[in-house]
Amino acid sequence: MARKLLLAHIDVPGINTFEVYRQKGGYRAVEKALKTMSPDDVVEEVKKSGLRGRGGAGFPTGMKWGFLAKPEGVPRYLVCNGDESEPGTFKDRYLMTHIPHALVEGMIVSSYALGAHTSYIYIRGEMMPQIRIVEKAIAEAKAAGFLGKNILGTGYDLEIHVQPGGGAYICGEETALLESLEGERGNPRIKPPFPAVAGLYGCPTVVNNVESIAATVPIVNDGGEEYAKIGIERSTGTKLISASGNLVRPGVYEIEMGLPMEEFIYSEEYCGGIANGKRLKAVVAGGSSVPILPTHLALKTAKGEPRLMTYESLADGGFVTGTAMGSGGFIAFDEDQCIVRNTLNYTRFYHHESCGQCSPCREGTGWMEKVLHKIEYGHGDMSDIDLLWDIQQKIDGNTICPLGDASAWPVASAIRHFRDEFEWHILHPEEAQTRNYGLVSE
Ligand code: NAD
Ligand code: SF4
Repeated sequence: MARKLLLAHIDVPGINTFEVYRQKGGYRAVEKALKTMSPDDVVEEVKKSGLRGRGGAGFPTGMKWGFLAKPEGVPRYLVCNGDESEPGTFKDRYLMTHIPHALVEGMIVSSYALGAHTSYIYIRGEMMPQIRIVEKAIAEAKAAGFLGKNILGTGYDLEIHVQPGGGAYICGEETALLESLEGERGNPRIKPPFPAVAGLYGCPTVVNNVESIAATVPIVNDGGEEYAKIGIERSTGTKLISASGNLVRPGVYEIEMGLPMEEFIYSEEYCGGIANGKRLKAVVAGGSSVPILPTHLALKTAKGEPRLMTYESLADGGFVTGTAMGSGGFIAFDEDQCIVRNTLNYTRFYHHESCGQCSPCREGTGWMEKVLHKIEYGHGDMSDIDLLWDIQQKIDGNTICPLGDASAWPVASAIRHFRDEFEWHILHPEEAQTRNYGLVSE
C-alpha cells in the first residue's frame, strides 16, 4: 500500500471540519513552525524536501522561496493558485473540497516562512462550493486562534483572503492571476521580472499551487529529509493524480513519485485497467498542456524500461521539452478514441482561451483549429499535415506565456506519434466520419 501524506485521512467522516482535522493531528505543523522554528528554518526544510511545484511546471519550491526579494519596509505576499483549469486536472478541487484545512494549514506555515502577513487564495470562479468551503475553513482556523493577530501568542500576524477567479483559463497563469487579483483583465505579464521580485502590487510575491502549499504540512511535521526519502531522484514525495478517460476507476489518487505508469493504469489499487475490456491507445500524463503518448511509449521508455511517473522520466518520450508530469492530469484513451478529433478538441479550447496579446498564439491557435477541422471533417489534403506542423513550430517558444507552447505540444505529439491516423483521415474522408482509425501501429 502506497504511503499517503495528503489524503491519509480522506475517509475519516468530518475531516473537512476544523474539529476532526485537529483530532487527526491537524495544525501541528503550525505549532511546530511558529513556536520552534525560524522562517529560514522552514525554508530550509522545504529546500531539503526537494518539493517541486505541483501546478505543472515542477520548479523547485524551496528555490523559488529563496528567490523572494526582501527589500526593507515592502510587504511580501503569498498567493495560492487555486485556479485549476487544465483539462483533465481536478486534484486541487478535490483537496479543497475534502480537506480544506490542509490548504489553510499549509498557507499559515508557508506565509510564516516567507514573512507574509496578508495572503490570498485565488480559486477558480466556477468553483463556488470550494470557495465557500475554504472560506469556512479559514473562519474556523481564525476562531481557534490559528489566524489573525498574535497567532498562538507567538507575535506572528496573518490574514488570508479568498478571491474568486476571473473565469478564464489564462487567469491560472501566475502573472495573469496577479493582474486579475489587482482587478485588471487577466493578461499575462512578460517575465522577468518574476513575481518573486515584482509580483502583486509590484511587491515580492510567491505564487504556489494548492497541492504544493498543502505539501509543506508533512514537510514541516516530518522534516524535509523524510519527505525526500519518498519518490525517486529529483522527483520526491507524493503527487496527486487526477485520472480520467476510459479507465475502470477514474478519480483522484495520491501516488509515490516513481510509480510505474503501467501499475497506475492496471493495478486494483489505482485505476483498475481500461474500461469495458478495451485496449489502451494513448495517454496524456499531465493535463492537456503536455504531449499525447502512444501506449508503447507510455508504458516503456525508449530503452524498454518501465516508464515511471516522475518529472524526468515523462520528459523523455522522444518528444518536445517540458515536464510532462505537468499538473498530474492523467487521461487515458482507449482504442475507440480518435486522435484527430481529440487534438481538434484541445486546439479549439486553446484558441478560445488565448488572451490575444501575442500574434503567434492568437492567430496560430485559430489556424490550427481550422486545419484540424478540415482534416477531421473530410476536406483535408496531405499538405495540411505539414502546414499544421509548421504552424505549431512557429508558436512554440515564441509567445509571452506557456499557453502558446501548450497549444503547440499536443498538435506536435499527435503528428509525431499518430501521423498515420491523420493520413488515414485524409485518404478515407467518408469512412473517417463513421468509424475510428483504431490502434496506432508501433
Ligand atoms: P515556469 O516554468 O515559467 O515557472 C514556474 C515557477 O517558477 C513560476 O512560479 C515562476 O515565477 C518561477 N520561476 C522560474 N524561474 C524563476 C526565476 N529565475 N526566478 C524566480 N522565479 C522563477 O512555468 P509556469 O508558467 O508557472 O507554469 C507552466 C505550467 O503550468 C505548464 O507546464 C502546465 O503544466 C501548468 N499548467 C497548469 C494548470 C493547472 O490548472 N494546474 C493550467 C495550465 C497550465
Ligand atoms: Fe495571451 Fe497566448 Fe500570448 Fe499567453 S501566449 S500571452 S495566452 S496570446
